[in-house]
Amino acid sequence: VAGVEQVRIAQTTSRPRRRLIAVASGKGGVGKSTIAANLAVALAASGRKVGLVDADIYGPSQPKLMAAEGVKPEAREKTLIPVETRYGVPMLSMGQLVAPDQALAWRGPMATSALGQLVDADWGDTDTLILDLPPGTGDVQLTMVQKHKPVGAIIVSTPQDLALIDARRAIALFEKTGVPIIGIVENMAGYHCPECGAVSDPFGRGGAEAAANDLGVPLLGRVPLDIAIREQSDAGTPPAAGNGDKAATFHRIAGALGD
Ligand code: ADP
Repeated sequence: VAGVEQVRIAQTTSRPRRRLIAVASGKGGVGKSTIAANLAVALAASGRKVGLVDADIYGPSQPKLMAAEGVKPEAREKTLIPVETRYGVPMLSMGQLVAPDQALAWRGPMATSALGQLVDADWGDTDTLILDLPPGTGDVQLTMVQKHKPVGAIIVSTPQDLALIDARRAIALFEKTGVPIIGIVENMAGYHCPECGAVSDPFGRGGAEAAANDLGVPLLGRVPLDIAIREQSDAGTPPAAGNGDKAATFHRIAGALGD
């Protein structure tokens, strides 16, 4: 963890704390990072001073999603300076601090300490940080949440039952730590056919809505399974930065987050 040691910041910092909004999921592969990136881009496009913190030690993907792969953040007096992205969203990622094979062996306290460096970086006038948490509800997530106390959490889930059971676990983790659930985003909800434009529901329909009602948390929105979302994400051009219907979907969800 040599790289982390080099940029370890002083524990006493007088910089203002920013509002952290955690984006979490009960398991990997549900699109948590994709949703986090697009919400950050949509919020920035609506004039919010928002930064993006990629805390996903197991698969940090924000540098790729935000077209900043291979860019290393600099440090000034041991404080990290977030990387500027072309979408008006400054960003820092665990992937910029440590090699992936090292991160896999991390325990909760190590990950939390590294996250501290990302959160306490020189975020300038940024007032909100979107925090892309590692998937799942283990020790690492628990200590991260306990230490850094997000003001709220967004849970990303696919419509499948299994993912919803996992999503319920994620919700329980936040309830246990006293972090309010802002709402659920249902991702890969309905397949958008690029040929005919029709939307079908290979994973079923209505599961997230029912679960949200059941749990008493808002359903913030539904994002369809759409090849263009995968392609644009891989290319580092988040759909929310465009102006089509996919952008509108993310802007609506960002609008539902409130102030
Ligand atoms: P997680 O952060 O939950 O592990 P990712 O955001 O990395 O998930 O997404 C996993 C894969 O699914 C990526 O290849 C991503 O581009 C793709 N993906 C995510 N959401 C969608 C969607 N709505 N439509 C199509 N592909 C998606």
